[in-house]
Amino acid sequence: MSDTQQRAFSAFEMAQAQFDRIADLLELDSAARELLRNPQREYTFAIPVRMDDGTVQVFRGFRVQHNDARGPSKGGIRFHPHETLDTVRALATWMTWKCSVVDIPLGGAKGGVICDPHNLSAREQEQICRGWVRQIAHDVGPLRDVPAPDVMTSPQHMLWMLDELETIHGMKLPGFITGKPVGMGGSLGRKEATGYGLVYTLREALAQLGIRAADTLASVQGFGNVAQYAIELYTQLGGTVTCVSSWNQKDQTAYAFRKHTGVSLAELRSITDRFGGIDKDKAQDLGYDVLPGDAWIERSVDILIPCALENQINASTVQKISPRVRIVAEGANGPTTPEADQALKERGIFMIPDLLANAGGVTCSYFEQVQSNMNYYWERAEVLEKLDLKMTSAFHAVHDLARKQDFYMRDAAYMIAVDRVAQACRDRGWI
Ligand code: NAD
Repeated sequence: MSDTQQRAFSAFEMAQAQFDRIADLLELDSAARELLRNPQREYTFAIPVRMDDGTVQVFRGFRVQHNDARGPSKGGIRFHPHETLDTVRALATWMTWKCSVVDIPLGGAKGGVICDPHNLSAREQEQICRGWVRQIAHDVGPLRDVPAPDVMTSPQHMLWMLDELETIHGMKLPGFITGKPVGMGGSLGRKEATGYGLVYTLREALAQLGIRAADTLASVQGFGNVAQYAIELYTQLGGTVTCVSSWNQKDQTAYAFRKHTGVSLAELRSITDRFGGIDKDKAQDLGYDVLPGDAWIERSVDILIPCALENQINASTVQKISPRVRIVAEGANGPTTPEADQALKERGIFMIPDLLANAGGVTCSYFEQVQSNMNYYWERAEVLEKLDLKMTSAFHAVHDLARKQDFYMRDAAYMIAVDRVAQACRDRGWI
């Protein structure tokens, strides 16, 4: 095995390599490169928690603030047994680019705790949340750094964290954190924001290609939050989804569910668990063909919408994509590998890249922060109207650059994002 193969995969090295390529295209100077390819600040700390059995366990917590030139940093907090500082750095970097591409006045951050909530009581999780805030209370806040939920953290965790910060500072600071429950500072429209945001960009892509949504078929990987709301809005536009896939916990494998006449969202929702797993036997009873998990990518459709995991469209699966496919819209983070990107580019498939297509979530979190800071909350229709405006204008900024200079959509999105952050650093006199 070569040295390279032996070295563990580093998400942060991947994020830096992506950045270096875009820095070359933008011809950034060495100071801009040095500043932007590394986080501005990193915090690692210990969180001692008295467990239910009376013993004390010490958990390790992180917060990485990659860049805040454009505004307070923004990014989720992940609870995961395999959390590492390397992953948190990479995710913080990607948050900077995502906020920038949709042009919201926020920087990028990410946080985490090494723990497994499956093995922790609610009280123990509450103590981890409160302990995390106590360690970093003076370096986060509505005007500095605004966390949110991520893998295995929920609105309840956000509320415990908010309560701790408000107790420390002796004042109400609802703009400190987003993803709060609706009625306790959360925003209407947040649950549908990522899926709907994706379809706003898809609608614009179809218009650019001169295709009517009503004449299209789509196949979707995943049936969780992002996928369900993407399907909801896409079918409202007249499109037909002929296949969805999901993970089956019992069988420890994924299945694809196909109906040539179009899947029914309501029907599938009624047989889906809270983790987005579709009941295979009930689907069969309802007349769905149950196929192997990767069958979603082989369907003869116009649009592929991966909404589950990273690394799904790769060097081997890309060969299975039907000649009919015109658009890939990435709901998931990192579903396409660089090799597959090259193949899609050569085939002339229109790519709506993850940092643009799934930015509806963070855009709506920004709206939540604004509402919380004002302590005045908007109606759902107002939130979605503002979301549509943001996503549509971000799509056109990226598409215009891609068209005028013949860039792949992913490169154009990264170039706009990195250029804006570099410019903000220059404007502030940092570099
Ligand atoms: P979720 O947990 O609600 O749903 C995930 C879905 O993927 C489930 O239906 C699950 O069964 C399915 N799945 C898992 N493994 C699979 C496999 N091997 N094959 C087929 N299906 C599989 O998650 P979500 O919130 O919908 O997020 C999905 C993706 O979108 C993730 O990559 C996430 O990082 C990204 N994302 C989510 C948001 C958001 O606001 N929720 C925002 C930006 C990006």
